Amino acid sequence: MFFKNRFFNSPILILLSLLLLILISFAFIPTKPDEGMFPLSDIKSINLNEKGLKISVDEVYNPNGVSLVDALVKIGGCTGSFISDEGLIITNHHCVFSIVSNASTVENNYLENGFLAESREKELPAKGLTCRITDSYEDVSAEVLNAANTSEDISQRTTAISKKIKEIVDREEKKDSTIKAEVSEMFVGEQYILFRYKTINDVRLVYVPPRTIGEFGGESDNWVWPRHNGDFSFVRAYVAPDGSSTKYSESNVPYKPKKFLQVNPKGVNEEDFVFILGYPGRTFKHQPSQFLIMQEKYQLPYIQDLYSWLINLYEKRGENDPVFELEKVGEIQGLANTEKNYRGKIQGLDRLKLIQKKQEEEKQLQNFIESDPAFKEKYGSVLSEIDDVYKDAFKSGRRNLVLMMLSRNVDYYRLAEIFIDYKKEMMKPESERKSLYKEEKRNEFYNTITKLYNDFMPDLEPKILNKMLSDASAFEEFKDVEPFKSFSKQNNKEDFIADLYDDTFIKDSKEYFKLLEDADEKIEDLDDPYLQLVKSIFELGEIEKNKSQVRDGNLNILLAKLNDVKRQWMNKSFIPDANSTLRLTFGYVRGYSPRDATYFSPHTTLSGLIEKGKEYGDYKLNEKIKELYDKKDFGQFIHPELNDVPVNFIYNMDTSGGNSGSPIMDAYGKLVGVNFDRSFEATVNDYTWSEKYSRSIGVDIRYVLWVVQKVGGADFLLKEMGISL
Ligand code: ASP
Repeated sequence: MFFKNRFFNSPILILLSLLLLILISFAFIPTKPDEGMFPLSDIKSINLNEKGLKISVDEVYNPNGVSLVDALVKIGGCTGSFISDEGLIITNHHCVFSIVSNASTVENNYLENGFLAESREKELPAKGLTCRITDSYEDVSAEVLNAANTSEDISQRTTAISKKIKEIVDREEKKDSTIKAEVSEMFVGEQYILFRYKTINDVRLVYVPPRTIGEFGGESDNWVWPRHNGDFSFVRAYVAPDGSSTKYSESNVPYKPKKFLQVNPKGVNEEDFVFILGYPGRTFKHQPSQFLIMQEKYQLPYIQDLYSWLINLYEKRGENDPVFELEKVGEIQGLANTEKNYRGKIQGLDRLKLIQKKQEEEKQLQNFIESDPAFKEKYGSVLSEIDDVYKDAFKSGRRNLVLMMLSRNVDYYRLAEIFIDYKKEMMKPESERKSLYKEEKRNEFYNTITKLYNDFMPDLEPKILNKMLSDASAFEEFKDVEPFKSFSKQNNKEDFIADLYDDTFIKDSKEYFKLLEDADEKIEDLDDPYLQLVKSIFELGEIEKNKSQVRDGNLNILLAKLNDVKRQWMNKSFIPDANSTLRLTFGYVRGYSPRDATYFSPHTTLSGLIEKGKEYGDYKLNEKIKELYDKKDFGQFIHPELNDVPVNFIYNMDTSGGNSGSPIMDAYGKLVGVNFDRSFEATVNDYTWSEKYSRSIGVDIRYVLWVVQKVGGADFLLKEMGISL
């Protein structure tokens, strides 16, 4: 027996060995990841090698050479990455969902059955999908802020900034016609970066798994861990034979990317270092507490309620109408995604008491400012001035939001709005008109109108208008405002709205175009109740627009000051909020404990998928998967410890919407998965991130490869990715 000897039993030795044990275990605890979506300019300063990266940081990002960053694309609102030198791109199934549903018919439904192009000629144009590659970037803050500072009127400050940005964009695109320029605001009123992008306009569908795989778990599982979703798809980028970007043409050839990612078919395991490059959309971590109050009180509940009402309406309508169902499936998916995300945010704000925490932080900041006369002089009134701006914003409440939703969801409302706006703009000289109303855009303008007529849903739209007007007229901030005030007094709202639809010239598209182009027809003279109702909402919108311009102008100065003093207080610099520009985030494959006495491990498996699968609803099992599982046909993509095919995994990285489709890479920069979601608790990430509850979800590369091979029967794609079979 080891401990028979007295020496081994001595308390000193036990203490020493305990100490040693603690030291050793500390040495193996991976470093805690930092919050953050690091912009390209910060990548070199993170010291990724210390965190676990095994290649040089130059291989990740190198502005003077080729690096992993060059394999990244922004595809639609998502991210994707090149995985072959023939322009093959991997992204999420949900990122091409609408494209696939648009390419489908009830008889030939690629969304339900999946799609595989067995040869290049059979690849289908992904209509409306484009890819962007970040080419270079440059700080243009001084130029933008100089222009802002010359505007005398605060309401003109943000307009001056937008004007300057447009000027820079035009200048850059003129210099090099092969690029698209964009100036992104990194810190409000402080930092503006010019990004140059290459755009690819010919993108084609290569492989899309059946919906039972690509959307397994549907809305029930969306924003949820554990998960078993094959949320991936393959597309290919094409360019003209001379390498230039062009629209779809049969003579186009696959794009040769500067860099493509190597796939690691062995994937990663618990606690492995991983990182993501991608294009996260919008986060709000540097906003003051009042911004969060606006979100909690107005934005989140209003949108959440409206979207869930719309989803219900469309789903019911589609129950016995497969054509309508297919037409609306993409829109419903988008609405449902936001609706559930907002529900998560509402719960998260409450659970974390985030607003109270921010308010407390602001109190402490004020104390810090007051402790030094120089600070007091410079920043003493910043927080109270922000308060004042928001006092005004609270008075407007949901006004802008409701107006925006009306024009987005009610086609006749939008047609009336365009009519009014167009007439107004046509009074101005051409050079001063909004760009959509310029002569060169005439076709586009007419197409917009035609599309609204085509999308019009006569049986549903009056109901939507009724819902939106009824809701708004019950809100405090609309009560005394026309036409909401009068609407609330209508005894029979349904009849009132039915009459509006019956009596308007908008229902006749020919008449609409005729009146639109007839300069003698003045809005005031048109005795059309629908148009007059929209006109009074339009006028309210103009007043609100002016008010929000003043607020934005003030905030542009105040938020810059706030961040400035916060940096000095905390003695650190910040990572800018996400704004759809290329970012890096890193972390570890790791489980978590979201609730009392609950622990979630980081990998799900094929066995778990089968267990979850029922014959109905969101968990409908794919027949082929069932068959393969019954035969235990796991092939080569098995997880050695789990002895199963790993399906999804989680990691403690900071991601957001737009990171969908981002490549998850291992310590060697090899592709080990595709990011597609976050856990429910992590929906609040957009306001604040924490290692405790923030987990992002990806599809394991082993599951991707297994599905492509065993379900898709597409060995040729695996070979193209360099997988030895
Ligand atoms: N699934 C998410 C989305 O809809 C991705 C995320 O936000 O994490 O964009």
